[in-house]
Amino acid sequence: MGYDVHRLTEDRDLILGGVKIPWELGLLGHSDADVLIHAVMDALLGAAALGDIGRHFPDTDPKYKGISSLKLLEHVGNLLEEKGWRIGNIDAVIIAQKPKLRPYIEEMELNMAQVLGIQKDRINVKATTEEGLGFTGTGEGMAAQAVCCLEEA
Ligand code: MG
Repeated sequence: MGYDVHRLTEDRDLILGGVKIPWELGLLGHSDADVLIHAVMDALLGAAALGDIGRHFPDTDPKYKGISSLKLLEHVGNLLEEKGWRIGNIDAVIIAQKPKLRPYIEEMELNMAQVLGIQKDRINVKATTEEGLGFTGTGEGMAAQAVCCLEEA
């Protein structure tokens, strides 16, 4: 399982699942702050007992500044393959009050499936609000959760 949170702020792009979404706020972070992909990577690394993204991509390392999280996801996919794992499936949920994400979900799934080299029907992305409650409800930040199943290749 993977979980991540990023703060929303002005003057940043909102990038989720590698899709740049037109919105007045973006997520703050060392990389492109793609909270969805970060949760997915932590689910994959965790299932393979490979630690977490903080261990593989430290946010103190200048080479990851502003990097596309799709590149990091591709690296995680290669690591899994090296270790003899194949991705069975991935499910994820983005928790955000706004904007409406449904129009972008399919492209997010496609982007991630492509860099992982898996069929699009092995990956599912959902979005929900928390009914105005908590930090996602007030628009202070966004969260994402992911689970995955790995199979022996
Ligand atoms: Mg993160």
